[in-house]
Amino acid sequence: MANCSRCSAPLPSNINRCKYCNVRNDIDLHNKHSYAVTTHKSDRICPHCNDALQTITLNLKKPFEIERCEGCFGLFFDPGEINILLESSVTNIFDINLELISNINKDRYKKKKKFTYIKCPVCFTLMNRVNFGHRSGVIIDQCKKHGIWTDSGEITHLMEWKKAGGELLHKKNQKQVKKKKMTSTSKTSTKQSPDYIFQSQQTTMVETDLLVALSSLVYKLFT
Ligand SMILES: [Zn+2]
Ligand SMILES: [Zn+2]
Ligand SMILES: [Zn+2]
Repeated sequence: MANCSRCSAPLPSNINRCKYCNVRNDIDLHNKHSYAVTTHKSDRICPHCNDALQTITLNLKKPFEIERCEGCFGLFFDPGEINILLESSVTNIFDINLELISNINKDRYKKKKKFTYIKCPVCFTLMNRVNFGHRSGVIIDQCKKHGIWTDSGEITHLMEWKKAGGELLHKKNQKQVKKKKMTSTSKTSTKQSPDYIFQSQQTTMVETDLLVALSSLVYKLFT
């Protein structure tokens, strides 16, 4: 659990405003990553607040720049950058903790959040909403050309998801889906099956194909 930067009171996982001193905290970066705010303002605009974003230098293995909104602490990553951050922050994960993965999501989404499409900070076209990895529960906003927007807290959520083995699970599922697809293809081509079985196999195949296409798409976007 994060603590308030001013009064040290604990901050619940999906809240960034401290209920004791009313200060807003950057729960994604504060005390978690070494970073510096660059003095020049970026010409990119926060899709929620309509203000110019700050440029932030993150000191990872190689320092790199992202943008942050001073008002809502949303972050904007150029294509690929979000993976560099995840890769360098969460390493050596070998176990999948299913219970923890689902608890993380329950903890974060007690109430149903209302989703709206927001504009890309660079080109101002509406961004796509994409589920980050299998069951991560984090829906990120993405402009294919310019990058990914995460609301305050979403990076922390993704880190927890990755720590709990969420990404491992995602990769494992992708492999299984591929295997299933191969075996079901060979079955339908060699054996003559009654109509109803054939039909149900076809539907699963279509579903699997779609799943493979979707998950490999999502996967490609983030590797
Ligand atoms: Zn406080
Ligand atoms: Zn903002
Ligand atoms: Zn764009």
